[in-house]
Amino acid sequence: MSIRTVFILCLSIILLFPGTALTAGRMDTCKKEATEWIDANHRMFDDAARAIHEFAETALREHQSAEYLANMLERDGFTVERGVAGMPIAFVATFGSSGPVIGILAEYDALPALSQKPGLPSKEAVEQGAPGHGCGHNLYGAGSAAAAMAIKAVMEKRSIPGTIKLFGCPAEETVVGKVYMAKEGVFDGVDACFAWHPGSKNRISLAHSRALNNFEVTFRGKTAHGSADPWNGRSALDAVELMNIGVNYMREHLKDPVRIHYVIPDGGAAPNIVPDYARVWYFVRDIDRKGVEETYAKVLRCAEGAALMTETTMEVNLITGVYDYLPNHTLSEVLYRNLQAIGTPEFAGEEERFAKEMQNYLGIEEKGMNTDIEPFEEPKTISGGSTDIADVSWIVPTAGELAVVTMPAGIPGHSWAVTSASCSSTGLKGMHVAAKVLATGGIEVLMDKKVINKARGEFEEKTEGFTYKSAVPAGQKPQLPQN
Ligand SMILES: [Zn+2]
Repeated sequence: MSIRTVFILCLSIILLFPGTALTAGRMDTCKKEATEWIDANHRMFDDAARAIHEFAETALREHQSAEYLANMLERDGFTVERGVAGMPIAFVATFGSSGPVIGILAEYDALPALSQKPGLPSKEAVEQGAPGHGCGHNLYGAGSAAAAMAIKAVMEKRSIPGTIKLFGCPAEETVVGKVYMAKEGVFDGVDACFAWHPGSKNRISLAHSRALNNFEVTFRGKTAHGSADPWNGRSALDAVELMNIGVNYMREHLKDPVRIHYVIPDGGAAPNIVPDYARVWYFVRDIDRKGVEETYAKVLRCAEGAALMTETTMEVNLITGVYDYLPNHTLSEVLYRNLQAIGTPEFAGEEERFAKEMQNYLGIEEKGMNTDIEPFEEPKTISGGSTDIADVSWIVPTAGELAVVTMPAGIPGHSWAVTSASCSSTGLKGMHVAAKVLATGGIEVLMDKKVINKARGEFEEKTEGFTYKSAVPAGQKPQLPQN
């Protein structure tokens, strides 16, 4: 083909599809500007991640963490609504007023007893027994805010119509925050929702999570001397034990994906006092809501039987319940493409050394950091865990499972090691990449109507005949800590 022919061919393509070429070029420019904006402003987000790491506030106690992010977004020009869905630490930061509406989720809760000095390869608590960011939500919160602010910067500069919303979601670790926000309609009207999570792999997962009910059963009986007049007592602990025995015998007859686990937070004060109060805390999980509801009803029948046998009374407190995660493939693919374009975090020698020292200390393979991107494919198994992003995914087309490497390969989740990495240069570098992927993915969705339409079409097909109804009873408020 001669140069002249190529020229004529290109010219005819441009004449036939002028918008396509221009839009693609414009979009690339906007994406580049978003990533450059994150690079130029990364110190602000590094400071936010470090501050939230230091606050280390557990679920529903994230007052300083939420306020730090809300203030940062407000200073940047977002309108912030605080105290949404009955939780003082939940907020929505909005920029723009027209469609399409892009949502980005942020989390910031720490975990109990995972205090750890940042950036150390060996275990050393800042304060023994204190909370720590053993799931890296300090990076999650700051990184998501960075993405939202980068999108806003480009929207303003390039006059891109649309709305960007950053959802400040508390209490992910107890799968509470987004459940109550979803129940109150906080996510209604959003066209596409994105989230990420710190991790030891670079990937976009399409794995479904498990639906879950998180509930307590309290039994009340009568106290008496354990030896002198036990016949006058009615043991609440007996009821807990009989309930658990019933549930454990029932396991044989449950379908394979069902998971039931419990602990006994209150089982009495002393052996010589018949306990008049006992409490058992349960999680019931299955691959969908229907399965959870069925098993939940069976477990409650075991509790009723136990109360009957022990002549005690019982009370059920459904703390929270979530759906299984419904991944939107169209939006997940958008994130995958943008992760490929941006590339995985580039770690230096000192970060590789940190990783290998930590792996050596933990007695696991000294592999350093994962630097590849896992293939984008249907998972072979169902995830064992549950997430409250799942509820959002049944209301809005959602890609909520972007993971970027912020920690050494193979270290255990929810551990001091994650707390350490989540406030190191390793964690911050991963957070920058995640922010860029979310920002460029968000820009793509804002600028390309075809993507939103395709994501919406997929969502409607998958949810045909379904209406979202929270697992939590309509009038129930989040159970906030008293101190
Ligand atoms: Zn987490």
